Amino acid sequence: MTYSSSPMRLNIQTDPNPFKLLTPGPLTTSVTVREQMLTDRCAWGEAYKAEVQDIRARILGLAHASPDAYVTILMQGSGTYGVEAVLSSVPGKDEKVLVLVNGAYSERMCQILARYGINYDRIDCPYTEWPDAEKLDAYLTEHTDIDYVAMVHNETTTGILNPIENIAPIVKKHGAKFIVDCVSSFAAVPIDFPALDIDFAVTSSNKCVQGVPGFSVVIAKIESLEATKGNARTLSLDIYDQWKAFEKTNGRFRYTSPTHVVAAFHQALIELEAETPEKRLERYRTVNRMIREGMSKIGFRPYLDEKVQGPIITTFHVLCEHFDLPHLYKWMAEHGYELFPGYLTPEPTVRVGNIGELYPEDAERIVALFAQYVAERRAARGAACCHNQQQ
Ligand SMILES: *Cc1c(COP(=O)(O)O)cnc(C)c1O
Repeated sequence: MTYSSSPMRLNIQTDPNPFKLLTPGPLTTSVTVREQMLTDRCAWGEAYKAEVQDIRARILGLAHASPDAYVTILMQGSGTYGVEAVLSSVPGKDEKVLVLVNGAYSERMCQILARYGINYDRIDCPYTEWPDAEKLDAYLTEHTDIDYVAMVHNETTTGILNPIENIAPIVKKHGAKFIVDCVSSFAAVPIDFPALDIDFAVTSSNKCVQGVPGFSVVIAKIESLEATKGNARTLSLDIYDQWKAFEKTNGRFRYTSPTHVVAAFHQALIELEAETPEKRLERYRTVNRMIREGMSKIGFRPYLDEKVQGPIITTFHVLCEHFDLPHLYKWMAEHGYELFPGYLTPEPTVRVGNIGELYPEDAERIVALFAQYVAERRAARGAACCHNQQQ
């Protein structure tokens, strides 16, 4: 017996969702992805294990990686658990990590390393700028004790898409290993794992693959993973042991498997293949550009320069001190779209995510809603409020 996947159904008129999510994961999923969760699966059964193995193979396909050189390890917990699993499992007792920091998620990598007492250095740059490859080169020339360089591909904090392709050759030139958090870019932004010689990378079930939240996905170079045997500082987040279990049992998680989430993710991968990753990226870019341009027209200045803007989420400045963010979040939800309630930048900002089941019609509607909101608030407050009017 095998679990059947539903044919892709683009008509989601019967969707029971009361609103769409503009949060960058969890995101709006298709009805057919959610439908898979109506079936209870036996985590030890052959049919389920076949689904797990198929997921592991499809992930390698998306990474342009051969199963001779790379493996996929699924890990219970959200993306942070996956990042923590890698950072706590990989460096040896006397090894050192260098983290390139330009957002909250690279900051979180440092927090994790500090928590485990793992030796690390950091190079900081402003949240609006790319990590500097030349600076890294000079740093690694001077500090020959760095074993791993870790960074975030798409910093979801601001939406900046960091150029890992410029950093990877520098890391390798100095003989270090490369750890990449590609949680919010993988499966949309193409990443050639062998070409960049990435050693360890992490993504999760609820980002660009468009599954539901519940597990993370580690992609590891076998040779580098083999070298970490015995380094893990925890039992449940040990990526080496988790890998060995998948291999030995032909697709079983070590501990209880998030079966419903895995099934939804499997369907999401089938739907990604039907859409194609290229078309998905194009859709994200289109929706992102429409939101960015539309919002600019009504007075919201993007936080990032267009050159560094990624296709996943845009952050906008809030220029007016009277701008009441909690009021905005509530109003937008009442009009069908949930925003991320808060900001991760030093200055107050509004973040509009555009991954998930969102289309150009949504972009038009979102911009129209922001325009309506600004007009309504200005009318209510009168001259006391400038509401993001550009100077
Ligand atoms: C979503 C995300 C994570 C994981 O965050 P969780 O809250 O654990 O899902 C890590 N890094 C980046 C860049 C992300 O976008």
